[in-house]
Amino acid sequence: MLGQNFLHDANTIRRIVRTAEVRPDDVVVEVGPGLGSLTLGLLPAVSRVVAVEIDPRLAARLPVTVADRLPAVADRLDVVAADALRVTGIPGPPPTALVANLPYNVAVPVLLHLLELLPTLRRALVLVQAEVAERLAAAPGTPAYGVPSVKAAWYGEVRRAGAVGRRVFWPEPNVDSGLVALVRRPPPQGDRAATFAVVDAAFATRRKSLRAALARWAGSPAAAEARLRAAGIDPAVRGEQLSVADFARLAATPPVQA
Ligand code: SAM
Repeated sequence: MLGQNFLHDANTIRRIVRTAEVRPDDVVVEVGPGLGSLTLGLLPAVSRVVAVEIDPRLAARLPVTVADRLPAVADRLDVVAADALRVTGIPGPPPTALVANLPYNVAVPVLLHLLELLPTLRRALVLVQAEVAERLAAAPGTPAYGVPSVKAAWYGEVRRAGAVGRRVFWPEPNVDSGLVALVRRPPPQGDRAATFAVVDAAFATRRKSLRAALARWAGSPAAAEARLRAAGIDPAVRGEQLSVADFARLAATPPVQA
């Protein structure tokens, strides 16, 4: 399942490049360049594109396509033939932006992995399944708010940046798509891994109060309640009410001695 639905609409590609707000000095990471239509749109607008592509045939073909279509800027391209979920670094100067039509089955883990791996990324614009776009950009207390929303909010301000129809892809996917923009800001105070562990626990049983949902994480329902109260959080509310700052504060609150 490589999620190979390729963009073929020039207007959509121009729109993505414009919405990404990339500048001539940007170093862009693109995940899943595929046949290169978005890569060709990005290259004239930025200083460098590092394209990470898992499919070795597509990765091998991309430099040929670019040399053929845009020889004047072909030296701005670097191709990494790899699984974006497994990359441990990006060659060359520190990347400043992520712009990608992501493979939909791994969109959220790829986005989170790269935001964590590459702290120099100051913004991201990604094309994902519409439902995933809604989840990533959801605010606390709304139905779509969940693990992807909180974890993305750890890294920055996230907003939906427009809907994209099915006809601009070949082959046409059977889902609608949407753009999501993230602008990095400093994360909340606290430890990321510890915060993400509470987030996972809080949403594992979505319909339960935090007192019940966090019982195993804290040791018991009573321990969860004491720790929630110590963090200034009502133990009767559900995880979907908490912001990322609330989760970070809860993770940083030491266990309360009985
Ligand atoms: N960007 C191209 C476009 O818009 O036409 C193609 C996008 S297509 C939705 C997803 C691309 O990601 C495919 O080229 C696929 O081979 C690649 N891909 C899938 N899983 C990947 C992964 N884990 N790491 C890197 N690339 C991946």
